[in-house]
Amino acid sequence: MAAAPFGAAPVISDGQYTSTLYGWIRDGKYADVELVLRAKLRESPKSQLVTAAHGFIPSLAAAAMHSRKCATTTATATKTTSQIKWAARRRALQRRKLVGSTRTPRAAMNDDDVVEPSAGKAFSQQAMTDFCVALACRTGLLYGPPEQCTPAPTTLVPAAFPRASYERAVQLAPAMTRLADATCVDPAWLEQALAAAARADVFTDALIRVRSAAEPTRAAAAGGGGLTLGVYRSDYMVDEPTGRLLQVELNTVASSFGALSTLVSRMHAAALRFASADAEACGTLDETDDSVLPRTSDVEGWPPAPANVDAAITRHMPENGALEGIAAALAAAHVAHGRIRGTESARRHIVFVVQPGETNVHDQRLLADRLWQHHGIPVIRATLAQLARHAKSSRGSSTPSSSVPCDRLAAALRDVPDFADTADGAAKILADAGYEPGANGGRLFYRGREISVAYFRAGYTPNDYPTAVEWAGRYAIEASSAVSCPSLALQLAGTKKVQQDMADTDELRTALERKAKADGKSAREGGVEDDVASLLDAFAELCAPNTDVVARAAADPQAWVLKPQREGGGNNFYGDGLAEKLKSATAEELDAYILMERIRPASQASWMLRSARPTRVQETLQELGVYSASLTYDGQAIKDMTLDGGGELDRAVSGSALGHLLRTKAATSDEGGVAAGFSVLDSPWLE
Ligand code: ADP
Ligand code: MG
Repeated sequence: MAAAPFGAAPVISDGQYTSTLYGWIRDGKYADVELVLRAKLRESPKSQLVTAAHGFIPSLAAAAMHSRKCATTTATATKTTSQIKWAARRRALQRRKLVGSTRTPRAAMNDDDVVEPSAGKAFSQQAMTDFCVALACRTGLLYGPPEQCTPAPTTLVPAAFPRASYERAVQLAPAMTRLADATCVDPAWLEQALAAAARADVFTDALIRVRSAAEPTRAAAAGGGGLTLGVYRSDYMVDEPTGRLLQVELNTVASSFGALSTLVSRMHAAALRFASADAEACGTLDETDDSVLPRTSDVEGWPPAPANVDAAITRHMPENGALEGIAAALAAAHVAHGRIRGTESARRHIVFVVQPGETNVHDQRLLADRLWQHHGIPVIRATLAQLARHAKSSRGSSTPSSSVPCDRLAAALRDVPDFADTADGAAKILADAGYEPGANGGRLFYRGREISVAYFRAGYTPNDYPTAVEWAGRYAIEASSAVSCPSLALQLAGTKKVQQDMADTDELRTALERKAKADGKSAREGGVEDDVASLLDAFAELCAPNTDVVARAAADPQAWVLKPQREGGGNNFYGDGLAEKLKSATAEELDAYILMERIRPASQASWMLRSARPTRVQETLQELGVYSASLTYDGQAIKDMTLDGGGELDRAVSGSALGHLLRTKAATSDEGGVAAGFSVLDSPWLE
């Protein structure tokens, strides 16, 4: 039985021993990466080999000593071939406590299965890298500000992911969407749920205050007031000890990387085709296998791929429609805004609210390109400060009235210590710009263009509000009839505290019943009990850090994660840091945190590409995100509105899965997040 390598790379060498990374396609099936260690010595006792390996691949050496394969292959090494194969996914024993026990290694290959590429013919890591870098540049799979962007951090090949867990995550999307919508139906409940956290955290407090200051104007805004688009990403890890798919968090604001993750899936498929085509050219595929037929790729410039590789890709790599789906959701909101406002003004634009010096530009621009090219909708980009300074209630200049209701904004911020000094300034900025909240039916203009949808890719961290000017920008949108993606209520619904509340069965049921009622349905019609059961099944243990749980967590800090009310990665406490924080924080301070059971995913070897350079193979963990979207009127389903007769737009906001994101991080890293620099973009190979 033949096996074709799709990648081979000298990973490390100390002169005597060389380790090489291979990916294998066996029987048309991509069979993950493996390390091959070659000893250059003909006579190499097992102990010497393992000691040598210890010197430069500690985790593999540790695994090797426990490997049944070790004895056999060492024997081979002392004879002639000097070849040892070790499954790279085995992780270092010393990490067992941190990352859980290793996934059962795949059945070891027989030596006969191995077709070793001969020197010069092997598909090299450099060739693979060159292919991926070139493809990333051609397709826009880029990261960084325009003047310094590089190919986005990715892996070179997909990661193995359990098919059942992937399918479960996709199935959960409609229930997760209903849950997000449910938690913002009733702002009074939301405020009460977040009251203690807001007392301890000035940012949460400011979000709540600005939301309630803008609420009357938002509600009164004629027509489109109160329309909210939710673009969600529910993140999961598979807990290895229990095999359960557990939610890490539900993102309701700036759920990013949909566009780039779509391109990664496509890049990986192309790279496998390319590599296997190259392997075929090297004569490494079984020539007697009739199913191995060259196939001309339908994408110009890509080399032909063997048919069985195509079949394997189709079978194992799920389609990823996140880019198209999220763009369609934004288009749906734009169309709904036009319908409700009774205008199809060609001058309406979607605004992407971005951070100054944004680094994830291409993920956003790909969405903007899709909106313009496929839906004919123009997009402009603006920071919160730019919006504050140029917001208007009508196309032309207007004379602000003396009773500018954005005084409410000043009042709201005045009570928040950090913003007290500049609170009046915020209101004045809007008044000077000519923005009168609620005037002209709540219409919002920015540099002469009417805004249909404000899509936030900023505004989720206190760093995005360095002065009250940025709060003024946020308020201007919240108080207008433009569709907010998300509204402040929906952003608050995605906080860690609300996530923790929803892990309580009664709270969850009540929230879903409230949503069903708001939609004019009974609990039964709304499928509340089914949702409760499937959602609870996906929740890890989540608790408020009260005395009971604090004692448990302090006694076993490796089993918990302590999370503040923050988004964007890099904020959580683990292990010793967690124990320390629990000790030093007062009970009031801990109100801004939640405690979450630590999920222990299995590790596997990955080969990453950062700044266009391949990294060493390393043990990694995977986190799967599933995107979905919904369009609501203050949390309630919009009745009697079909946007395109059950077509692309309606489907996009139906709550079903739109696509996925797989992120891979080093097994030694507690944190995740691509933008935060911990993870890289990956794609799942389902098995
Ligand atoms: P953020 O809003 O900052 O993205 P997350 O809840 O997603 O916060 O946590 C950041 C990262 O920390 C995750 O991507 C994941 O890698 C890790 N993490 C979070 N919660 C857990 C958990 N319960 N168990 C293991 N790792 C976790
Ligand atoms: Mg996260």
